Amino acid sequence: MSQGPDSIREIRINPIVPSESVLVATARSMRPRKDEEPAPRDQRSHVETCPFCKGNEDKTPPTIAAYPDESDWQIRIVENLYPVLGDDRHQTGLVLGLQQAIDGYGRHEVMIDHNEHGIGVHEMSHEHLAMLFGAYRERMEQLHQRDPRLKYVLVFKNFGPAAGASIAHTHSQVIAMPVVPENVFNEVQNSRVYFQKHHHCIFCALIDEALTFEATIYDRESGHIRRKISVGQYVVERGRRFIAIKPFASRFEWEIHILPLHHQASFLDAGRDDMEDLARVLQRTMARLDTVIGGAQYNYFLHSLPHGEEYADAGPSYHWHLEICPRTSIPTGFELGSGLFVNTISPEEAAERLRAVELPD
Ligand SMILES: [Zn+2]
Ligand SMILES: [Zn+2]
Ligand SMILES: [Zn+2]
Repeated sequence: MSQGPDSIREIRINPIVPSESVLVATARSMRPRKDEEPAPRDQRSHVETCPFCKGNEDKTPPTIAAYPDESDWQIRIVENLYPVLGDDRHQTGLVLGLQQAIDGYGRHEVMIDHNEHGIGVHEMSHEHLAMLFGAYRERMEQLHQRDPRLKYVLVFKNFGPAAGASIAHTHSQVIAMPVVPENVFNEVQNSRVYFQKHHHCIFCALIDEALTFEATIYDRESGHIRRKISVGQYVVERGRRFIAIKPFASRFEWEIHILPLHHQASFLDAGRDDMEDLARVLQRTMARLDTVIGGAQYNYFLHSLPHGEEYADAGPSYHWHLEICPRTSIPTGFELGSGLFVNTISPEEAAERLRAVELPD
């Protein structure tokens, strides 16, 4: 139970969404050890009985799109067999006194990210990843064009059983929604308020800080150094157009965010050059993660400017990004009850370990 001299126990506030805070507590006793290791991920390249593997195309709903082409596809989009939202219903909203309901219209699609069954993002080529993110972008654009009532197209990936992937074959989900997910909404609102006060984007400011800020904080009584922040301490990977950062208030031990270095509000603003550099930064970041935690299982989420009039003015203040959240532990009762995330590895140490991984150029 002893706390080492360098251990940290502090509550860190998310600078963008201050209501979301994290208890960084590096004393080991904070998190009870899990009894069992998470189920390993499926690493086979082809599985005869898998509906997403090549040759089984007739086992899924029809193809919506395929890349580079349908006959020799590497990426395929199909409708979800069990959609959480469907576009077959066109009713208006219900108001029952104070209670309101919005019709659950939208689309829920599955993107089969690769024709190899168990391949991880860190094992995909840069060309493939650029094509995958290009496919996300194209589908997002098409869905918004088709139905202007849609406020948000959520793109996310669950990889590995620990991250909640119910089908082992590597895939992402695309959900077009009539509402904006709460965490994106909070980011948009708070960054807008920041912009009104400071006249610049908070995400750009955080990137600048990660690249240039240094500080030493001394203990007033003893004069010892309490905290030292060095330049680039939170930077995990840097490309020409993208940067991977370990957030100061990381909710998850190995959480990493990837952002465009130059301001872009919507993922739809990203061009071909952007996709190529994003692919490289993402692949290298995931390779670092996989080396440090061994067989990474994770969720990633694309956060982009929502559609609709009420978001039209947020272009200068919102900045799209990819949030990568590896799942290395299950939430404790304390976390579920308090809403406070507990992180047992300091983001500074995690960033240092990720950076230390040697990768080929
Ligand atoms: Zn498969
Ligand atoms: Zn920005
Ligand atoms: Zn976000």
